[in-house]
Amino acid sequence: MKALQELARKNIWQISPDETSLDNPGKDDARIFLDANEIPYNKPHNRYPDPWQTKLKATLSQVKGVAPENIFLGNGSDEVIDMVYRVFCEPRRDNVVAIAPTYGTYKARADVNDVEYRAVPLSEGFRLDAQKTLAARDANTKVIWLCSPNDPTGNSLQQTEIEKIIMGFDGIVVIDEAYSDFSPAKLFRSEIGKHPNIIALNTMSKAWGRADIRLGMAFANEQIVKLLNKVKLPYNINTLTQRHALDALEHRQDVEKWVRMLLQERGQLMKAFEYLPICERVYPSDSNFFLAKMTDAQSIYKYLTEKGIAVKNESDVELCENCLRVTVGTKSENSELLGALRQF
Ligand SMILES: *Cc1c(COP(=O)(O)O)cnc(C)c1O
Repeated sequence: MKALQELARKNIWQISPDETSLDNPGKDDARIFLDANEIPYNKPHNRYPDPWQTKLKATLSQVKGVAPENIFLGNGSDEVIDMVYRVFCEPRRDNVVAIAPTYGTYKARADVNDVEYRAVPLSEGFRLDAQKTLAARDANTKVIWLCSPNDPTGNSLQQTEIEKIIMGFDGIVVIDEAYSDFSPAKLFRSEIGKHPNIIALNTMSKAWGRADIRLGMAFANEQIVKLLNKVKLPYNINTLTQRHALDALEHRQDVEKWVRMLLQERGQLMKAFEYLPICERVYPSDSNFFLAKMTDAQSIYKYLTEKGIAVKNESDVELCENCLRVTVGTKSENSELLGALRQF
């Protein structure tokens, strides 16, 4: 791995951590708070949030098995994805490499940040080819984006190929594990001690059932977390979100139950899809959704829309011609979907 100083944008490296934080050392033991121009009424909403999310990180640390200093929290993982560009990529000079197809935000934020995005198609069966992926890099490649289980394909990337990329690349490897709760695959967030160049992402938006609170997590080497902390807005995680996330962590047996139910439903729904005459292929999934190749995805998509059922049309996505991405719903939602499709 290159030195972080070489990987980080020069202006970001040079910022002192104090410059971007609003910490006031005199506040630590204070009883009366007359320092932040908050009014004293309307408690508890009158106070600014904890900018370091200390309590939430302590609890997350236990649940995720990662030390608090290795955790960075974002307003959704989408915010973290954007910040990776702002920390590491010099616009119009640096580039990133990613697999294709994958989660659209990696490319969208590259475009916003004016950073070249190099997409490397996955191989047959949506498998990762480390050698081919690494071949797309050059001296200005700062980041390689991997997503496992991958969206929209649903499958986990092979662990050995991911490891080849981690070992063979001297920049940052992001492994987005948004769907890892649905997968038996090894977690790369437990590898951050071994590999200082990885950032593992996770979110409360999927298995945790809390897309509306906007809480994304990055697990990484402490030096990378420090760089992200320099770039973040001081109060990027609001108090309502911090409180709700703590509550979610206390009720994590719900998540285990939801995952069990969804995996069972997914099995039944995928099997039913295989028997549909209008479905040509169902791709294996380690997620709470799956990709299905249809005879005519566009008209089936339109037909379902008219019935009030939304699925994702992936027809225009590279390697996903005629594919729909179907999120697993409740038993009754799934059977309504199947009923509609049988009548198509
Ligand atoms: C849904 C999803 C996320 C979640 O993003 P948030 O901003 O945390 O809601 C992240 N990565 C992938 C691949 C996803 O599909």
